[in-house]
Amino acid sequence: MIRCVKTAFHTSKLDLERLFACNRISAEVWNQCLLIAKHHALQDDGKWIGKTELQAALKNQFPLHSQSVQAVCHKYLYARDSAKQARRQGLPTKYPYKKKKHFNTKWVDQAFKIKANTIYLSLGIQNGKRQQPIKITVPRLPEADIKEIELVFDRKLMISMSYDDGQAAADNLGNQTAGVDLGEIHSITATTTENKSIIITGRKVRSIHRLRNKKLAEIQKFMSKCEKGSRKWKKYNRAKKYILSKSERQLNDAIHKTTRQFVEWCRENEVKEAVVGQVEGVQRNTKKKKRKIINQKLSNWSFGKIQKQLRYKLEAQGIIIKMIDESYTSGQCPCCGIRKKTSTRNYNCSCGYTEHRDVHGSRGILSKYLHGHIRYMGETKEIKYLRIA
Ligand SMILES: [Zn+2]
Repeated sequence: MIRCVKTAFHTSKLDLERLFACNRISAEVWNQCLLIAKHHALQDDGKWIGKTELQAALKNQFPLHSQSVQAVCHKYLYARDSAKQARRQGLPTKYPYKKKKHFNTKWVDQAFKIKANTIYLSLGIQNGKRQQPIKITVPRLPEADIKEIELVFDRKLMISMSYDDGQAAADNLGNQTAGVDLGEIHSITATTTENKSIIITGRKVRSIHRLRNKKLAEIQKFMSKCEKGSRKWKKYNRAKKYILSKSERQLNDAIHKTTRQFVEWCRENEVKEAVVGQVEGVQRNTKKKKRKIINQKLSNWSFGKIQKQLRYKLEAQGIIIKMIDESYTSGQCPCCGIRKKTSTRNYNCSCGYTEHRDVHGSRGILSKYLHGHIRYMGETKEIKYLRIA
């Protein structure tokens, strides 16, 4: 399995300058990708530029290792193709268009060398001359084959190393499928084909968000009172960045714990396949104003982050993850088919059906996936409640 570790490093003042420059140059590469792609489409009847052509157009133009330039190019193509896929599914996604000032630089394969705790980052050959590599020292390295080094900014420059831990994904002999409902009140609710459920509360995640928003609002108020770019303004701006990065770390930690608990439950309950309901389908059908509110809510429960960590952790356990559109899975009674919204903890129907709202939702996702419609799946056998401390 490929893993990632982020770490601080030591370097000389000059090399630190050069590293900052790398990320500025990478941003130029990105901006150039946007430009070349646009021109290509204009000249060739809207046809998209291919990988080979884009790479050729970027060659020998930037004072970076050629593979670092290629890495930006790959990121651009990946962003473009993901946007295409999302749009095909009807999701409101924009193609990459934004110019950047900084962009993470990547070193792969031949572009870096490691000796003891020192890493040499190559800038390749420029004008026929091999450039002096940038030298950084890290406190410790993973005991594995490092595949990639990425220069990231998190309050200061850091490097993110990805490596292969040499372990294959675990064998999974499970036979259960689980419907998974991601939400704000309960981060994860899931139900298996055997009608066993888990509810993990989102209280921790929500409180981090609430606190962050409150503090940011306070700072914003101060900032609006001083002149943009002034010394005071800069001081508040630094405080703002600090809060953002701190809450980000807390959030990642909470999400990490949440997803880990969930994956453990999957293993205990012999889950082989997890079906996650995607909310975007609902979003598409709502009016603009409402959509904005939903978007804000979505960002408040970090849907994307949970999804990403779930995928990574489930796959490590040999669990297949599938996404389906979750529209109408939570609002329909599985017994009589009547549709109604619910704002209470339980979903109650006039026909007598009653179920915990999120268990009902996760079961709806499972039913939609297995049968193509909402069907009664039998009585709940067990509900496990978990709270993340
Ligand atoms: Zn009913």
